[in-house]
Amino acid sequence: MKKTYDYLIVGAGLYGAVFARELTKAGKTCLVIDKRDHIAGNIYTHEIEGIQVHQYGAHIFHTNNKEVWDYLSQFTTFNRYTNSPIANYKGEIYNMPFNMNTFNKMWGVITPAEAAAKIEEQRKASYTENPKNLEEQAINLVGVDIYEKLIKGYTEKQWGRPCTELPAFIIKRLPVRLTYDNNYFNALYQGIPVGGYTAMVAKMLEDVEVRLGQDYLADKAGWDALAEKVVYTGPVDAYFAYKLGVLEYRSVRFETEVLDEANYQGNAVVNYTDAETPYTRVIEHKHFEFGTQEKTVISREYSAEWKLGDEPYYPVNDEKNGALYAKYKELAEGEKNVIFGGRLGEYQYYDMDKVVEVALNKVRADLV
Ligand SMILES: Cc1cc2nc3c(=O)[nH]c(=O)nc-3n(C[C@H](O)[C@H](O)[C@H](O)COP(=O)(O)OP(=O)(O)OC[C@H]3O[C@@H](n4cnc5c(N)ncnc54)[C@H](O)[C@@H]3O)c2cc1C
Repeated sequence: MKKTYDYLIVGAGLYGAVFARELTKAGKTCLVIDKRDHIAGNIYTHEIEGIQVHQYGAHIFHTNNKEVWDYLSQFTTFNRYTNSPIANYKGEIYNMPFNMNTFNKMWGVITPAEAAAKIEEQRKASYTENPKNLEEQAINLVGVDIYEKLIKGYTEKQWGRPCTELPAFIIKRLPVRLTYDNNYFNALYQGIPVGGYTAMVAKMLEDVEVRLGQDYLADKAGWDALAEKVVYTGPVDAYFAYKLGVLEYRSVRFETEVLDEANYQGNAVVNYTDAETPYTRVIEHKHFEFGTQEKTVISREYSAEWKLGDEPYYPVNDEKNGALYAKYKELAEGEKNVIFGGRLGEYQYYDMDKVVEVALNKVRADLV
């Protein structure tokens, strides 16, 4: 007997929304469910004091993929936001990524040749053959001044360990730019959806049935009975009831506050690169959309250990978790009517553009 829906999509995040949009366009019937009480997954934004607040961390859309840019532009207009974070080291302000503005402030150098010579001098002065840890590696790449002021404290807060105890491979390259260009991403297309990401996802799901506050795993058999196929974008280990073990994540904790002032820090993203400030970054959401509201909303970001039950943010790309994921992937391939996708379903850090790209490829292949 034919089931009620062609597809059940578990997760109303970006991956699920691309699937739902394309399947509906192709004439398939779908039901989207999410255990949260809102759509859009981790790119969810909601309004506070007229400002779109990025609840699960700042999200800046950037891509070199024109197809992905055009695809999402059907559902939103991107504004002209360009990510130009700044670093605050004990009250000294530096531009990021490391560029001529940074070097001018750090050493007073003016020309690219002077900056290159200074970096070379710094690298040579403290060079270590075969760096054994992140500290030695970073100093080999950019020298002591940049390491001490802009890398050390931030990295130690991010990982919760001294740089001398972190492996060298975490930092393979530290790009330095010998131009006065503060644009963090080298992407051809960049911006923030006008009106927020949630409105963009709502448009994608416009004519799709969505049920919120529904946990697929709480009644898997019941949900499976409704649809011919399942697209699962939740954690792959949870799907298999963690029977091979738990995949690990790094987490982030956000403290969001409404302030009774119009402009707190003059920039959307400020990194605190000293060791003493407990948070890594402060996000001032209104600057993503050039807001002119009377109040402002900020989020302080703290790097956090993760345990099962916490919000999973960044997959841990080490050997142990890689090997465990490979085993879950094998199990997933055995589930014939289930497509595992997205950042949790594939245990992958994906930027938004990549999520759209892989979801489009996957759904098109499934429709053939
Ligand atoms: C802190 C942070 C900052 C980021 N910043 C950027 C950025 O600036 N630019 C960029 O391009 N990318 C950024 N990303 C990446 C971006 O968040 C992801 O690409 C995107 O959210 C992935 O979408 P998704 O649909 O795969 O997953 P999600 O958005 O996580 O959606 C999965 C959904 O499945 C639901 N779900 C899970 N289990 C169940 C279940 N059992 N039953 C029902 N529903 C379930 C979840 O509730 C969730 O809503 C960032 C990521 C993080 C962690």
